[in-house]
Amino acid sequence: MGPPGAGKGTQAKVVAEHFGIPAISTGDIFRFNVSEGTPLGKKAQEYMDAGEYVPDEVTNLMVRNRIDEPDAEPGFLLDGYPRTLAQVEELDGMIAFTGHRLDAVVVLTADQDELVDRLLQRAQVEGRTDDTEEVIRRRQEVYGEQTKPLIEVYRQRGIVHEIDGMGAIDDVTKRIYDALDVVPQS
Ligand code: AMP
Repeated sequence: MGPPGAGKGTQAKVVAEHFGIPAISTGDIFRFNVSEGTPLGKKAQEYMDAGEYVPDEVTNLMVRNRIDEPDAEPGFLLDGYPRTLAQVEELDGMIAFTGHRLDAVVVLTADQDELVDRLLQRAQVEGRTDDTEEVIRRRQEVYGEQTKPLIEVYRQRGIVHEIDGMGAIDDVTKRIYDALDVVPQS
């Protein structure tokens, strides 16, 4: 978890590879569907372009289908899900059904102004349609309103690791490994 631009996607890929499990990014799956023009992409696009969340029913079904894939059987790392209380409940139900367990919630913390700068730079490189300044600010707001409160829910379960997400990518990865008690491979 963490606000938009905190580096979730980058870290998720590295950490998931370390564990030999898939990094499941709801944002990436939505973007892929948008670019392919699928019915799911058509449903998601207007929400994404406005910086709003895609409705829970759509997102939940997509995640349910994805974690049913064979590569997720040994475990998986979720990037950008859950983001609402309804998604937390849904995820609990899904993993109770599949026999998985939520081991850890990694929260990347970051300075909000710096994040907006980072996202504007990324917009130039990646050309994401949801990376205009107005939409970036809206995404930060939506995160604060709908997703930040979930940290408390998971904190009460004792599985939250809050990590400083600022600085070099490798340094942040090391902080995550330290928190998760992981010995990095060289
Ligand atoms: P991300 O790349 O994770 O920042 O996601 C990009 C956009 O995809 C978000 O701004 C939302 O519109 C949508 N999205 C990604 N994950 C979710 C989710 N768990 N629930 C609802 N919408 C999501």
